[in-house]
Amino acid sequence: MGRGVDFPAERVRMVDRLVRSGYLKDAAVRAAFLAVPREAFVRPEDRSAAYQDVPLPIGSGQTISAPSMIAIMLEEARLKPGERVLEIGTGSGYHAALLAFLVGPRNVVTMERNRSLAEWGRSNLAAVGFADVTVVVGDGSLGHPDRAPYDCIIATAGAPRIPGAWSDPLTPPGRIVAPIGSSPPGQVLVVATRRSDGTLEIREGTPCAFVPLVGAQAWPA
Ligand code: SAM
Repeated sequence: MGRGVDFPAERVRMVDRLVRSGYLKDAAVRAAFLAVPREAFVRPEDRSAAYQDVPLPIGSGQTISAPSMIAIMLEEARLKPGERVLEIGTGSGYHAALLAFLVGPRNVVTMERNRSLAEWGRSNLAAVGFADVTVVVGDGSLGHPDRAPYDCIIATAGAPRIPGAWSDPLTPPGRIVAPIGSSPPGQVLVVATRRSDGTLEIREGTPCAFVPLVGAQAWPA
């Protein structure tokens, strides 16, 4: 259950390890990891493992990603305060909380197809002071045009290709950060930047292994 664990000290140690291993370079991303209590986003039985650099189960066959993977994604996103972000795959809400710290909670919309995970994520976010993050139940492969435009779309589930619905709502030089490729193995983290002519400049980054993005413009259920 994690009783007796000094979570703030564990958090500092995790951040130190991520800095030493080269995953965390940006001061704002480092501050976000220091501010958000990861133990509030894992199941009670996994709390003592909250600061290990591993994915943890969150129910419904889904996971909260390893901190080093989240650090890579947040560094690639190059977010600034006030930018508008759409996250696809709320899960526990942890990644959304880090986004909320970086850009402000009202600027974050996060989508989750699994209703019970969306409710859990929403309550976890509220419990750590981020009730103003908007959690939408729906198919994120179709985007969320209601709150467009966005400066960044960040997906925490892997699609076969970048869904067409993610490009149009991006304000240039908006970024898409997403695991793309055949379901693990074979995914890479793709960073796509929207040019002013509407095309995407694509850069393939680190190999990764995310759960599948299941939806109309992604993998079938
Ligand atoms: N960001 C999460 C966190 O911090 O805990 C981890 C997300 S988990 C790796 C991926 C999530 O994407 C799962 O909760 C899954 O239900 C969700 N998902 C899969 N396909 C989706 C879709 N089309 N739209 C929205 N959510 C989706």
